Amino acid sequence: MNHANHSLGDVSLNIQCDHCGKNFSYPLAAETFVCPHCAQSMTRIQAIESFLRTAMSATFSYDRKLIRGSSRLNEIGDSMGTIELLMRLETDFGISIDHDDIEELENVAAVSHYIHRKVSQKLKAAV
Ligand SMILES: [Zn+2]
Repeated sequence: MNHANHSLGDVSLNIQCDHCGKNFSYPLAAETFVCPHCAQSMTRIQAIESFLRTAMSATFSYDRKLIRGSSRLNEIGDSMGTIELLMRLETDFGISIDHDDIEELENVAAVSHYIHRKVSQKLKAAV
């Protein structure tokens, strides 16, 4: 992963394909990308959610298969761990999560959408 202040256009996410379970590198600048192993098409937001589930699984020692879009952060990790996770995501994606927005980040889908919105804004601004 590139450093936070690096242009997002060059950042790739190491993600696990939800279809075949293999890992591949998703270029964050791409709106959609095809898994090189099984040719399953993925959108950027799906890639972000996949990355997030892997990060949560690692941070909270939680079975990745049990983490879904509707999974609430406070059911999977404690509040300290959640703050740590969000800080890590800020670095990984080169974004800043506004303190006032943390309350709305209650489940995996909400966090994925939030990151996607921030990343899209940043990509647009870079053009
Ligand atoms: Zn695949």
